[in-house]
Amino acid sequence: MSERKHVIILGGGITGLAAAFYVQKHAKETGQPLTFTLLEGSDRLGGKIDTITEDGFVLERGPDSYLARKTVMTDLVKDVGLGDELVSNETGQAYILHNMRLHPIPEGAVMGIPTKIMPFAFTPLFSVAGKARAGFDLFLPKRTDTQSDVSVGHFFRRRLGDQVVDRLIEPLLSGIYAGRIDRLSLQSTFPQFAETEKKYRSLILGMKKSQPKLEKTPVTKKKKGAFLTLKSGLSSFIEALSKALPEDSIKTGIKVKDVESMDDGTYSVIMEDGSTLKGDHVIVTTPYAVTKRLFDESLFPAGFHDTKPTSVATVAMSFNEDEVNFSLDGTGFVIAKSEKTSITACTWTSRKWPHTTPKGKVVLRCYVGRAEDQDIVHEPDEVILKKVLDDLKKIMGVDAQPEFYHVSRMIDSMPQYEVGHIEYVKKLRDSFAENLPGVALAGAPYDGVGLPDCVNSAKKAVESLL
Ligand code: FAD
Repeated sequence: MSERKHVIILGGGITGLAAAFYVQKHAKETGQPLTFTLLEGSDRLGGKIDTITEDGFVLERGPDSYLARKTVMTDLVKDVGLGDELVSNETGQAYILHNMRLHPIPEGAVMGIPTKIMPFAFTPLFSVAGKARAGFDLFLPKRTDTQSDVSVGHFFRRRLGDQVVDRLIEPLLSGIYAGRIDRLSLQSTFPQFAETEKKYRSLILGMKKSQPKLEKTPVTKKKKGAFLTLKSGLSSFIEALSKALPEDSIKTGIKVKDVESMDDGTYSVIMEDGSTLKGDHVIVTTPYAVTKRLFDESLFPAGFHDTKPTSVATVAMSFNEDEVNFSLDGTGFVIAKSEKTSITACTWTSRKWPHTTPKGKVVLRCYVGRAEDQDIVHEPDEVILKKVLDDLKKIMGVDAQPEFYHVSRMIDSMPQYEVGHIEYVKKLRDSFAENLPGVALAGAPYDGVGLPDCVNSAKKAVESLL
């Protein structure tokens, strides 16, 4: 009979909880004697995931859904018994704000790359010169060095020109990364576009060819949305995930201060209150700045995550339907950086996710805070609300006060994946494997910021250690 091993998991966001789940699963499936303890610094689980449920509303402070095609998350949702709770978004037109006007995103644009000629040719979003410049993509040769990482901005500017990047691609991407497109790593965020260029040379032709052929959907059948969430909010998933784990293995309100390696190959985790916990393995899912403080600095490659994560805030507001004098025939809009607005995006939540809102009400959720200017995030709630309402009045003509609102600040919450990210992550993991072989790093700072990416990262960390 082999000796019982203990795994300590640092951080109780989605990555930490998923890691705990996979440790438990591994123990059950292999019969390996394993126990674990998850240590969360705050008094609640979920990290960035935080749902408010009140009076029939389901409002998310942080993430609101995930990409359905990344099935690892759906598998986990089903594993914890919530498969029936999954709901996809209502589809509809999304818009871009440019010159203070909402323009429909041209039909057939995949992450901003045109795959249909007519909608692109007729959109007033770009000038004739901008459209012509995008057409260069059809003739330009591919990059000579397709292996090295470049910024997303550099890559798309070369192929499609500045206008398409600044007015379409950048606003679409900044919703996901809240970063600077001219520093964002192509390889670690959208490697598929580098592959498309490598294979087809032209992005437009390549995307056209590689798009799955749409089956003719019967008129009566609704097109399915690309995102999924849970009817009672993402926190219901966190709750189910933690209930699937032994209660005494999860400890909240315990801040970790240090991790030391012992002579016998085990690790000692030291808490802020001075207590310690010994383990054979440690899975670290804390934000990068915290993780760096827990270990010797020499383990971390210089330059990695030197740019601070961006701070953002979301403002969810409920209005009476008859006071919002605007046809919400779509899912929301994102905003080109050149616009002088405080908000960076607005989701028409009650339209995109009808289950979140009681009848007769309209919920709008706006984002504030961009990589270049995050001061607004630190303003008082009323000041942020006023700026948001001023913008909504100018953009949508909404001239009503919300019945209630929630401002949610997420400080230093969006890790910046800059050029060379994948190389840095490899260096970091090699350095840990050599010096602290029982420690694995997982979560949003490394393998993708999306919720499914975090689940996958947790799964890989467990596989690598056990
Ligand atoms: P976290 O959730 O940050 O968890 C880390 C945990 O570590 C926290 O609970 C923290 O309290 C704990 N901790 C910190 N220090 C210590 C310590 N010293 N000791 C112990 N514990 C500690 N992704 C999507 O897929 N879809 C979306 O719609 C989406 N929208 C987003 C909207 C916003 C506003 C933000 C900020 C992110 C969004 N994301 C979205 C990204 C996604 O939410 C995150 O990448 C993901 O939740 C990160 O999970 P994590 O477990 O890696 O980290």
